[in-house]
Amino acid sequence: MTPLDELFDRNVAWAQAKTRDDPDYFRRMAENQRPQYLWIGCSDSRVTANDVLGLEPGQVFVHRNIANIVHTSDMNILAVLEFAIQHLEIRHIIVCGHYSCGGIERALSEEKSALVDHWLQPIVMLYRKHRALLDAIPDPRTRLDRMCEINIELQVRRLAATPIVEQAWLRGVPLAIHGWIYGVHDGLIRALGAPVTSLAERDSLATIDARIVNPVEPESMLRRHAIEAFADLTSFEPQEGFDCCPDHGLNPGPAS
Ligand SMILES: [Zn+2]
Repeated sequence: MTPLDELFDRNVAWAQAKTRDDPDYFRRMAENQRPQYLWIGCSDSRVTANDVLGLEPGQVFVHRNIANIVHTSDMNILAVLEFAIQHLEIRHIIVCGHYSCGGIERALSEEKSALVDHWLQPIVMLYRKHRALLDAIPDPRTRLDRMCEINIELQVRRLAATPIVEQAWLRGVPLAIHGWIYGVHDGLIRALGAPVTSLAERDSLATIDARIVNPVEPESMLRRHAIEAFADLTSFEPQEGFDCCPDHGLNPGPAS
């Protein structure tokens, strides 16, 4: 027995469970992959694309690195991007970071002595540029989470500036780039603004500098549903004699 035999045992149990519920499962898997989404996420072990999206293997093409950074000299991410768009014909690219990201925390720290600090340099530079504003946020956790959001918006812009994406848009490919953030504390994904679907939309985006001053309000699906329910309520015209209670229990509540 080796220390990792347990993983082989887990693998056998998983494969058997899959075929017990669905005898053709691996036959279908072996045929081809037809993922509809490219996920660019953090290497953090808590944020696995298939799990948080509730998708099966074969449904999402994945690239992960520390702090979900798009380095335009990174052959790995560029190859993934090109393969996803041109060969898999994926039309939705999701840049999904997460709150409490250790990579972002490192970028905000004074420690600068390892290879990972080269990797994190775009975030470090952004932090240095806006340090007065960001350090004015008194709670360190809030400051970190704000920077996690800003980093995603930065990477959406970097992705949208790659020649691969530009050429796809110029060819009329209906490509959408989504900036999302995942809450490790509640399991919910939040959208950071609308997706970017064209060169014109990319060019009309607010600058990252402006975003630091006026951040986007993250919106989870739960919050969106609550806001829609609240909107329905405010458009409701009560009939004469309608007995309206003061609390409908539909207040959207704090941002989630
Ligand atoms: Zn992370």
